[in-house]
Amino acid sequence: MRKSLMLFLIVPAAIAAPSAEDTTAWFGTTSPAPLSDPRKPVMKYDDVFGPLPTAFAHRPGKADELLDASALKADQKRIVGFSLESFTAGDKVWGRRAATPAFQHTIEWTVSELKAAGLKDAKVETYAVPGTMWVPQTWQLQVIGDPAFGAGTQTVTLQSAFPQPGGASIPGGTMTAPVVYVGHGTDADLAGRDLKGKIAIVRVRPEPSLFGAGEQGVAARLVEKGAAGVINAIEGPGNPQYIDPRFACGKSPCFMIGGQDAWFLQTVIGKAANAGVLDRLKVAMSLTSREQDGLGSSNGVATLPGLSDTRIIINAHADGYFQGGDDNASGLAVLLGLAKYFAKQPKPKHTLMFVASGGHHGPGNGPASLVAAHPELKTGTLLILNLEHVAYADVVRGKVRPNNNIGMSWETSVTESAKAVGVTNESPFLFDLWKQASRCYGVATYQSAGTTVSGDLGGYRPLGAPRTQMIQSGTFYHSSGDVYEQVPAEGLERAARFHAFFIEQVDAANERLIAAGKGTPYQPMTHSCQ
Ligand SMILES: [Zn+2]
Ligand SMILES: [Zn+2]
Repeated sequence: MRKSLMLFLIVPAAIAAPSAEDTTAWFGTTSPAPLSDPRKPVMKYDDVFGPLPTAFAHRPGKADELLDASALKADQKRIVGFSLESFTAGDKVWGRRAATPAFQHTIEWTVSELKAAGLKDAKVETYAVPGTMWVPQTWQLQVIGDPAFGAGTQTVTLQSAFPQPGGASIPGGTMTAPVVYVGHGTDADLAGRDLKGKIAIVRVRPEPSLFGAGEQGVAARLVEKGAAGVINAIEGPGNPQYIDPRFACGKSPCFMIGGQDAWFLQTVIGKAANAGVLDRLKVAMSLTSREQDGLGSSNGVATLPGLSDTRIIINAHADGYFQGGDDNASGLAVLLGLAKYFAKQPKPKHTLMFVASGGHHGPGNGPASLVAAHPELKTGTLLILNLEHVAYADVVRGKVRPNNNIGMSWETSVTESAKAVGVTNESPFLFDLWKQASRCYGVATYQSAGTTVSGDLGGYRPLGAPRTQMIQSGTFYHSSGDVYEQVPAEGLERAARFHAFFIEQVDAANERLIAAGKGTPYQPMTHSCQ
């Protein structure tokens, strides 16, 4: 009796135990996709239904053609081209990264375009970069094969893996550790989880982008709690690479992986757990990096003198990661279009100062360096207008469930994603101008507005002048999916034509209306859209 009971207890355990012969490699999970080609869009653009059209009539003698979609797209292509130059050169963190040759070429070209447009004082203003720049040299992220996961299971390399800023060289080159899946990394997700010495995997939902993701800062916290390293697994389209310091974890190795690698890793973790062999699932992280010092960066600066020395500063950051099609080739292309357009108009009342900045992605802050180099800007600056991420094609969830990605499929909308409008001093006049963006120019904005101006305007704060912008950071923010094609030509034209109107109205207005804050009596505009 006792013997047969023992047998009865043992048999189910034997059945539950994994058997290498039972399944194919990785429990039958499809191998992860290769890295999405960073020279091509991840999404389909202009598929069955094209972007919302534009219909802006040219006004005789107004040089409107300088704000046409084709002119703006040509400049955006040129700007993205500097990033591709960096890609071809084999830069690891490629793009128009501040203080790199590709960035310097972008600034030099921008200045030459401004000069050619007739802005005679256009120049490159260099500045020393404090601190160092993190430069990763080699890296690899592998999920280690084990026969316990099915016959023929081989080690898999996650090709979209990208190390996050600050990660130091791993002693000995490689670290191999067991994994722990922590969901979104909230305290609720972490309850009862032992992170010590493990590689933690966080599921990051870029909603609508890494900038807005709730998982910001989680990676650093996981390392504080004992994790040996972190993988930020992005819930996003395709399999692009991402970089964003908000998902780094100091000197510890932290990586981001694209949507299809994230799906693979999450799927095999689940299957290994179901098979009772999760403790055998290990990840190997390799990373070598260095810190580069003695760097210099630059701003491109030009003015269009007005009847008065009081100035309106129009800024766009020239740096960016990967192609940076929207962040910020879109803003820089619009800045150039506006400079060329205003150079052909009668002399403005105010001086227009155009700044192609060294950006805020580091190293070195462009606007802060400009403000430090030009104490005269502290007086006579009426307004600072920033052009940043102005026409990103909206990427939304679709209606089918793919078998190699998390959640529903991803689709491109026929319009641009909505942008957040910020006016730091809450001038009723400026808010009223912004109201015309959607009403007259078809520019998609939030229905609400506020005082927040994230992005490149931070460095201008010491000037004490009102600052304003519209900005959005979409699904491919800070990723190799932020390509030239993701900025619809029509969206670029909408943004450019609205900003031309905005600057003209600010220039013509009573200066008190710009400086006047919330609650100032103001008679709203009643004009009709042209
Ligand atoms: Zn950015
Ligand atoms: Zn930006």
